[in-house]
Amino acid sequence: MKFQELKSILNRQPAVFIVTHKNPDGDAMGSSLGLAGVLKKKGCKVTVVAPTEYPAFLRWIKGNDEVLTWGEDNESIKARAKEAEVLFCLDFNALHRIEEVGDLVQDASGKKVMIDHHQQPDDFADLMISETTASSTAEMVYEFIERLGDEELIDGDLGEALYCGIMTDTGSFRFPSTTPNTHRVAGELIKKGADHSMVHRRIYDSNTKRRLKLLGHCLMNMEVLDNQKTALFKITKEDHKTFNIQKGDTEGIVNYGLSMPHIKCAAFFREDKNIIKISFRSKDDFDVNKFARTHFNGGGHINAAGGMSSDSLEDAIEKFKKNIHA
Ligand code: 5GP
Ligand code: MN
Repeated sequence: MKFQELKSILNRQPAVFIVTHKNPDGDAMGSSLGLAGVLKKKGCKVTVVAPTEYPAFLRWIKGNDEVLTWGEDNESIKARAKEAEVLFCLDFNALHRIEEVGDLVQDASGKKVMIDHHQQPDDFADLMISETTASSTAEMVYEFIERLGDEELIDGDLGEALYCGIMTDTGSFRFPSTTPNTHRVAGELIKKGADHSMVHRRIYDSNTKRRLKLLGHCLMNMEVLDNQKTALFKITKEDHKTFNIQKGDTEGIVNYGLSMPHIKCAAFFREDKNIIKISFRSKDDFDVNKFARTHFNGGGHINAAGGMSSDSLEDAIEKFKKNIHA
């Protein structure tokens, strides 16, 4: 499908289904709710779907109350996927990343559109907009809205949704993926009324005492492998109980490892119920997407990726230490 065809379909006010990746982050929810808001203003019937729960610090975004979550709203999600004429897949590039919801998208008869910036996209969409050098899906969604000629529909609230996506995925405009265009788009969003300072506070000044104590615990127990230029954090099942860990509590902790000048890679191991979930971050050309794909059944970006292991926590960490050479 060509972009022009999609544009004329969207102008006919179809039912639209927007889904993002599981464990949605700021870019996932920001880009989805930003696009949803614009398409609603165009008169489309829009459904936004989260494949799993997401953290409280993202629940201020306009349109949040209408998000359907897999696990809670399964019947409505199935019906909406079936009736949708257009299905947007935002901020992920392989249907297995959204598990059961991926099967619904696969089987749906509507046109599938991917807008994403992760490496190595799967070829499942009728229209694939994939830019692996883009800072964020939210920046791409802004440009997509510009191409539709609908940027006038972005108001302050929708601007804040997109700004949230750009800000969180660029580490507040500091990662090398930040370009002049990233700043241009952020500037446009502020001109449209986005309160950038408020977005920053809602995301980053949302700590609880519990989370700060957990951060202290993780920093105290950090391992530094100087020769491998690597820092390593972990959270055990017992820690989940001790700190009453909630969704989003562990987000960002891994980045502290990279704040040491000689460290090129940081990893965060979290022992969940039946699986070890791992976050990887890196600097410069150390490619954690490749590392996560090779060793931990994962993927992502060159400098930020994730993976998993069904080994024990100790074994997963052992395997990591053996293979990491940053
Ligand atoms: P995080 O560490 O914040 O969970 O994820 C970092 C980046 O890697 C995100 O862009 C996320 O979408 C991607 N990612 C995280 N886990 C996985 C995974 O298991 N597989 C793939 N392909 N990508 C992942
Ligand atoms: Mn993203």
